[in-house]
Amino acid sequence: MAHIPNNVSVLVEELIDWNSRTWDLSSISHLISSEVERGIRRIQIGRRFGCDIFIWPVTKNGVFTVRSAYHHIHKPHVIRNTGAGQSHSINNKCWKLLWKLPTFPKVRHFLWRALSSAIPTFLALFKRKIKNSPMCPMCGLMEESMEHILFLCPWVETVWFGSSLGLRIDKQAFTTLDNWFLQFSSSFCIKNDRVWALTMACFLCWSIWKARCNFIYQATPLNPAVIIKKAMDTASDFFGTQCTTIFSKPDRLPATWSPPQIGVVAVNTDACWVDDFKGGFGVIARNHHGILVGGLAGPLRTESALMAEALALLAGVKMAMDLNLKVVDFRSDSKMVISELQSPLTSPCRIWRIAVIIDEIRWRSEYFDHVNWTWSPREANCAAHAAAQLGNKMLGSHNWLETPPPSLTLVLRNDGLPCPHVA
Ligand SMILES: [Zn+2]
Repeated sequence: MAHIPNNVSVLVEELIDWNSRTWDLSSISHLISSEVERGIRRIQIGRRFGCDIFIWPVTKNGVFTVRSAYHHIHKPHVIRNTGAGQSHSINNKCWKLLWKLPTFPKVRHFLWRALSSAIPTFLALFKRKIKNSPMCPMCGLMEESMEHILFLCPWVETVWFGSSLGLRIDKQAFTTLDNWFLQFSSSFCIKNDRVWALTMACFLCWSIWKARCNFIYQATPLNPAVIIKKAMDTASDFFGTQCTTIFSKPDRLPATWSPPQIGVVAVNTDACWVDDFKGGFGVIARNHHGILVGGLAGPLRTESALMAEALALLAGVKMAMDLNLKVVDFRSDSKMVISELQSPLTSPCRIWRIAVIIDEIRWRSEYFDHVNWTWSPREANCAAHAAAQLGNKMLGSHNWLETPPPSLTLVLRNDGLPCPHVA
């Protein structure tokens, strides 16, 4: 969060252009650093009627608890120096465990680097002043430490629980990678079980890391089922055919887009967030015949994947209003954004980083006769995803009514629907 120097006294109200709801920092730009200016510009401007509230940024809901303060102070990044010399020394037992572990050298090497804080996480890059933000590019909720990537980011919960290890990670009790490996190892009495579980955990860590990199650098969606399968395939390759029976689990059938009920328009939204402050959004509206009634794509400048998803949905709501739609089923593949909107109107937003956007979505949705907020699996949200990829490459927003850009036609057809529609 940006801090305006003490000697600069201005009314925040005066820095906002309320017509365009953007920051106008021209009157103070000579007094603040470019870093502070960037920080201010990242703050989403809400509607004018809300009251300012104090936020405790360490928790998701912004509410202070002693427990969160305690865990924040003891978080790995506080005690660990990501430079060459570490202040957190790794327990020798952990190194022994690692060197003896039957696994591929590349996986062992990766874990050795992870334990040595030698992986370029966003937090490490931020500390070296290479990145503007230390926040996790996937959830945007916490700083991206190695512990966060492999165990604490919300999306990896499904990977650990859905894997053959069936693990629930205790986030509150989690301290450091080496402690986790030692505790996990000591929970097995039989040596063979311990070796198998540790090896499997290493393959999962490796697959999660690869998926995280593919998500950031190639915008490949995060799919826990695929990642579990990759880890199991790697393990099977390593252990040989005898392991296929242990590891095999039925694959989930891929979901596909389904038309809404008669009289309802389905508005799918999605965002891609490539890097700090760079991404795109896509909106696709289709009626119960699956016929395209509107589409929109454009670039997004925001600080996290979660905010990008919320902004994409807001863009969808605005487009539905412009199209004068009255009964709409809004679909997004962001579980967090949808669950916020599905929660009762009286309950406060539980994720403070998107509270302003959620407030505006709710306020605008009063325009419709009826709205539905539906979580859609990524496989059923391909068209909006493709539009978001397109939006990322655009300089400004672009909308279309019946004829989508040629690159989208194929994706829309893959949903099994006529496209472009000929009246
Ligand atoms: Zn995360």
